[in-house]
Amino acid sequence: MLIDFTDQVVVVSGAGRGIGRSIAERFTTENATVVALDLAFPEPLPGDAIGIACDVTDPDSVAAAISQVTSTFGRIDVLINNAGINVEGNVEDLDPQRWRACFDVNVFGVFLLSQAVIPLMKEAGRGRIINAASFAAIIPSVGAAAYGASKAAVVQFTRVLASELGPWGITVNAYAPGMIPTAMNGFADLPESGQRRLLDTLSLRRWGRPEDVADLLCFLASDGAGYITGALIDVSGGKFATQLPSRAYEGASGAN
Ligand code: NAD
Repeated sequence: MLIDFTDQVVVVSGAGRGIGRSIAERFTTENATVVALDLAFPEPLPGDAIGIACDVTDPDSVAAAISQVTSTFGRIDVLINNAGINVEGNVEDLDPQRWRACFDVNVFGVFLLSQAVIPLMKEAGRGRIINAASFAAIIPSVGAAAYGASKAAVVQFTRVLASELGPWGITVNAYAPGMIPTAMNGFADLPESGQRRLLDTLSLRRWGRPEDVADLLCFLASDGAGYITGALIDVSGGKFATQLPSRAYEGASGAN
């Protein structure tokens, strides 16, 4: 066990699968009461996590979910805005509805859930809001203007909200996962050469694991991270460290 979240309520959006599910699992092992929000729950939730169906793009759905958590537990200590979708397509060809859907989930959903938990956190004089950005917020990919722009918006939203909530001791941070194979990106299904090309951009030259993100989030949610706010923290295996990290591997294999 890394950190003990006994008596704390942690709400994780998009926790029905992928990274969100691992985050939920991790917090349950740290003794938190975990509330998982998602459109659907294809698998049983980990531990004694509680699932609430919630569409983060729908104000009524968000209000109902947060009101259910509030009336059941009377507190929300941590909100993790993990829900997100990936929308691909060159700008020239992109269906405007797809662009809108991307911003609806990735940005509007983060806004709605954050807004919904603020009164409770203010009343408590503490709280943690942690938002999923992406390395695409810093270095976007060709054909991913909507996704990159939406994640950059999450970063700016995070910075502003961090300052707005500073007086109440509530911290707001964003994280930028690197390449973690999930249903969203299909990295694991790429041909080997394609996988190698992507991994060659990382100092640690391995795919990220959902647990790598969960580890960071446990720390950011803890009292130990009380002086970190408005930050974008990358958990990407060194995606931003150098231009050609594969050179180090060529050097290392030559040295053996
Ligand atoms: P995923 O597609 O496996 O999971 C996303 C979850 O969000 C799903 O369970 C989905 O149902 C839920 N969701 C989508 N729309 C929703 C809505 N309207 N309301 C409620 N829930 C909704 O994706 P993932 O790879 O686990 O990604 C999780 C987060 O991490 C996303 O925000 C993503 O942008 C970010 N991220 C992932 C990677 C990666 O490599 N996997 C990299 C950078 C950032």
